[in-house]
Amino acid sequence: MSEGAAKKEEKPRKFQAIRGTRDLLPPETALWNRVEQTAHTVFGTFGFGEIRVPIFESTDLFARSIGAETDVVSKEMYTFGGFAEFSAKVREGRMEGMLSEMPPEEMISLRPEATASVCRAYIEHNMQQLPQPVKLYYMGPMFRRERPQKGRYRQFYQIGAEMLGGTDAPAIDAEVIETVMTFFDRLELQGVQLDINSIGDRNCRPKYVELLRAELLKVKDKLGPDSQRRIETNPLRVLDSKLESEQGIIAALPRIADHLCEECAAHYAAVKHQLEMRGVIYRENWRLVRGLDYYMRTTFEITAQGLGSQNAVCGGGRYDGLVELLGGPPTKGIGFAIGEDRLILSLQESGKAPAPQGRDVYIAWMGEKAHATAIRAAKDLRAAGFSVELPPIEQKFGKALGQADKLNARYALILGDNEVSEGLWTLKTLADGSQQKLTEPDLLQFLREQKPVSS
Ligand code: ATP
Ligand code: MG
Repeated sequence: MSEGAAKKEEKPRKFQAIRGTRDLLPPETALWNRVEQTAHTVFGTFGFGEIRVPIFESTDLFARSIGAETDVVSKEMYTFGGFAEFSAKVREGRMEGMLSEMPPEEMISLRPEATASVCRAYIEHNMQQLPQPVKLYYMGPMFRRERPQKGRYRQFYQIGAEMLGGTDAPAIDAEVIETVMTFFDRLELQGVQLDINSIGDRNCRPKYVELLRAELLKVKDKLGPDSQRRIETNPLRVLDSKLESEQGIIAALPRIADHLCEECAAHYAAVKHQLEMRGVIYRENWRLVRGLDYYMRTTFEITAQGLGSQNAVCGGGRYDGLVELLGGPPTKGIGFAIGEDRLILSLQESGKAPAPQGRDVYIAWMGEKAHATAIRAAKDLRAAGFSVELPPIEQKFGKALGQADKLNARYALILGDNEVSEGLWTLKTLADGSQQKLTEPDLLQFLREQKPVSS
């Protein structure tokens, strides 16, 4: 067989979305839009402005801020060489040794989160000269190479907010938490549970971590391999363990609340008081730690119902040292990130998803003259905010009405040449099959008085 013939028989490759990524389709995207619109509105009422940061940044930015030892940076980032020489070598197939040769500032990564980028932007645009604190929020895709499962994807979406600069007054912590709780309330998210904790600061946390490490070493043999490894790398993360066999051991470990320095203890107490003043209901959870290195003092996590073991919809906390760590001036900071995919899942599970939306009006037209009138009517109705389906080719009325039904249309506007010359149009209400004959102005008036479903 000649090569040409072999090629012809090859089946075209069937492309599929990459593992861990997915398409968001209508009608579900209507819910995504509603969630995002609500975020714009609610965050706006708290004085936040939207920031849009790039999808990729210098790898170093994430390594320095999130921490090179964290799971996110050490194994979950999508990293590329960003410079021309590298690309040329890739094209020529000369890859050996490339990664170790690469100067770190030339590496770029898809963002696994956005706080580091927001802090970079704060520094880059001298935002410390603006009235403080600067309140920013963002929404968009993040990328982490994790094992995909329900509520966990490799491309997922976050909606987050940051308050940067000014004071670390406990009222700020409380207001940031109140912002996200108000947002969830507005969306009628069900089973919302806010957990808070304080993980201390540069003064008291290192001492506590050492104490924790010493206690963990005593029980090392009873711990699983992950926790054993974390005794060295990040003992706080052991508290996060969901392993059944470790729960008894963890319950007996020293608690950070008993080891906070005076300032941190006072700050934590004041945050709780401020939350109470705002009517925000919380639960204290001494085992709550965050996976990223930059957090200090106030940390919080919010869970919601219907999500199985991936039930955290929001994580956040204070990160006062981060801007300085990235080369900026000493700056207070606190923020949160909401997992939008999980938020949407929870809303769907509790029946808060909007019903699939049909069209307001399906225009069933027959005949040349009717087509021209139909085009005009569609234009008028759309301008009034109605969702209108105007079939591109002529169909028998029976078929058109069947189409209208399938599209969940509320009304069918029937336009034949007769209707057009008589000047009386027929409007059929599809739910009950009733029909009325109206003049063009009356019909448009009648429809305008109905509320468009699409609004
Ligand atoms: P988890 O413990 O669930 O892995 P995390 O501590 O890694 O969460 P953060 O980095 O604090 O999460 O991100 C904030 C929120 O973003 C999480 O509470 C979650 O809702 C969402 N999120 C994180 N990773 C993913 C992912 N891979 N897929 C979907 N949502 C995610
Ligand atoms: Mg994670």
